[in-house]
Amino acid sequence: MKQVAIVTGASRGIGAAIAQRLARDGLAVVINYAGNAVEADKVVGAILASGGTAIAVQADVASATDVRKLFDQTVAQLGRVDVLVNNAGIMPSQLPHLSATDDDTFDRLVAVNLKGSFNTMREAAQKLENGGRIINFSSSLVGTLLPGYAAYVATKAGVEAMTSILSKELRGKNITVNAVAPGPTATALFLDGKTPELIERLAKMPPLERLGQPEDIANAVSFLAGADGGWINGQTLRANGGMV
Ligand code: NDP
Repeated sequence: MKQVAIVTGASRGIGAAIAQRLARDGLAVVINYAGNAVEADKVVGAILASGGTAIAVQADVASATDVRKLFDQTVAQLGRVDVLVNNAGIMPSQLPHLSATDDDTFDRLVAVNLKGSFNTMREAAQKLENGGRIINFSSSLVGTLLPGYAAYVATKAGVEAMTSILSKELRGKNITVNAVAPGPTATALFLDGKTPELIERLAKMPPLERLGQPEDIANAVSFLAGADGGWINGQTLRANGGMV
């Protein structure tokens, strides 16, 4: 039986690249999405066309009930869960300073990025097979701490803290818990609402002088999910071309 990975937020962006990479690595993949069924089905179709195994499952990670159903449906259809990639996340395209950030923006960031990661980690901690892997998503902004990102970075710093603590709580279960912290990566989340000049400036920040591509991040996730990453545990891996 193939190992099974749930990739949250896999209909687009980094998650879609991760799903396709893990399918090439030989895992059966669950393409989770919030609302974009058409894009999720496209990712499933691409994986099936290249001989892989994939299903699409809608679930809002902010809802504990949805997340429980996501895991139950995975086990019902694919038999097990070995890898959780906690990639689903949001970032507002407008980035006001903390003093001008409204309650709805703050609450939604916490609900999806922080509670969402908590919901999926809690299920995974109970349901992952021996040898399992949990890979969370932070951001290199936790290192740069740029103005305008206070609420977003607060959620990602919380994810990093939970990563480290859960890795210790799973002692004896042979499950690793790590986080990947991308730098600026060419997806809708990063590009939307920015001028070409700002994108160019941010792209030049890493010494490698380009934006990350979703595949750059998928490569790091593949390492942590695969045999070669087995001794890495409780860490946050910044994948950002050397920006911070
Ligand atoms: P995108 O906006 O391109 O894609 C977001 C994905 O998450 C979509 O598949 C979307 O589904 C899904 N999603 C959003 N909300 C929910 C929800 N409540 N429940 C389930 N799925 C949801 O984002 P990226 O690919 O750029 O980001 C992926 C991760 O990487 C995020 O955690 C982000 O914070 C992190 N990151 C990204 C960086 C970047 O520069 N791009 C930099 C640092 C970190 P749907 O299509 O249905 O809306």
